[in-house]
Amino acid sequence: MKKLIALILGFAVLLSTSSVPVMAAEASNDFSVKYIACPDGGKHEMHSVGVCFIYSGPSPSDPGERIVSYGNTNQCSKCGLYVGAQYCPQTYGFLGPYTMGYNIEYAGSIYYFYDGLMGEYWSLTGDSFIDGFEWKF
Ligand SMILES: [Zn+2]
Repeated sequence: MKKLIALILGFAVLLSTSSVPVMAAEASNDFSVKYIACPDGGKHEMHSVGVCFIYSGPSPSDPGERIVSYGNTNQCSKCGLYVGAQYCPQTYGFLGPYTMGYNIEYAGSIYYFYDGLMGEYWSLTGDSFIDGFEWKF
């Protein structure tokens, strides 16, 4: 996993220093990559892996406010991207408030996301970002 993170970070640096206007990666303040298009190509293949808690603060030592409790965590079986959302997309057909990331704290099948939300989705289709995910059982 460390190797993958390094690879993704390297890719992000490459993108940000490249003159080609590719906006696939989005880095947060601590330079951890939150989202990148699936490196293996095609859509992220998301599978439900557990429960999520989402906090407004940046870290376990500074968690801030708990925004989502007992939400749902999905992981891409190809690149390892985690998506934490209020609702299980396979069950409800939407995410509600969500966030994502590659380097997620967890204990068993409970995942702890920091840095707040990335937004809300009340459909699993309709724009190029959410269409890049396939939600599988
Ligand atoms: Zn992926």
